[in-house]
Amino acid sequence: MSIRYLKEILQNGSNIVCLLGREAAAQHGGMFYQRDFGYDIEMKYGILPDEILSTTYFHNRPQEFFRFYREEILMKRAEPDGVNYTLKRMQDDGKLSAIVTRGFYNLSKRVGCRNVIHLYGTIDDNHCPHCGEKYSADYILEHRPIPKCSKCGTMIHPGVALAGEMLDSSVMTRAAEAVSCADTLLVVGCSLASRLGSLERYFNGNKIALVNTREHYTDRRADCVCIGPSLEDILISAYPGADPGPDCGKTAGDANTDEERNER
Ligand SMILES: [Zn+2]
Repeated sequence: MSIRYLKEILQNGSNIVCLLGREAAAQHGGMFYQRDFGYDIEMKYGILPDEILSTTYFHNRPQEFFRFYREEILMKRAEPDGVNYTLKRMQDDGKLSAIVTRGFYNLSKRVGCRNVIHLYGTIDDNHCPHCGEKYSADYILEHRPIPKCSKCGTMIHPGVALAGEMLDSSVMTRAAEAVSCADTLLVVGCSLASRLGSLERYFNGNKIALVNTREHYTDRRADCVCIGPSLEDILISAYPGADPGPDCGKTAGDANTDEERNER
C-alpha cells in the first residue's frame, strides 16, 4: 500500500471524516503533545502535566495551574501546518465532512475548516462556570495570576477539558454520528487502538486510510497505511493542490522519495 493508493481513496471519497490525533498536533509544534514534554514539566513543576491538567489541581492550586496553563500551553501553542491546510482544501472540494480531534489548539478552525469536533475542548473556549460568559485565550494570558469573570468575579474555567471531569456526551455523540455516516475514514497521527482511533468502531463506510509516524499492530484493520516521519508530507503528496499553505515545509516532491518506504 502506498501514497498512490491513499490518493485514490481520497479521490473516491465524497464523505470523508478525519480523526486527527495527537501526533499531528505534536508535528504542528504543540509542545504539550511532544514526547519530552512530560519529563521537562516534571523537572520544572515537580508534577506531571496530566496531573496539573486535572480538576483537583485546578481547584486546589489555581495560581500554579494558571501559571502552567499560560506558560506551557498558551505561550507554546501550535501553528497550523500542511495537514490543516490539506484538510481545508478537501473540505472546500466537498470531500471532507468533519474533523474529530483531541487536539485543543483549534488549528483546523483557524485555517477555516468547518464542522471540527473537539473532544477535549479548545484553548479558545474559556468560560465562567457561574454565569457562562465566554473568554478568549488572550484574556487568560492578560489577567494574572488568576483570571476572573469580569461580570461576576468567579474564577474562569479553561476551555480545555480537565482530567476528572465528565466529557460532554453531546460532543462524543456528534463525533460518533459523523463517523457512522462517513464513506471514508482518514486517520491521521494516531493508531486505531488510541482513544480517538477507537471511534473506528462506529464506521460503516468503505475505506479506512491511516497516516501515522509509527506502525501499530492494529494498522492491519485499515485498507491503506502510510507511515512516514512527516504527516504533512504524506497528506500533501496524496492530495496535492496549487497552494498547500504557508510555512508547510517541504514540497510534495520531497515526500515522494518516501513512497518506497511507505509501500506496505
Ligand atoms: Zn461570571
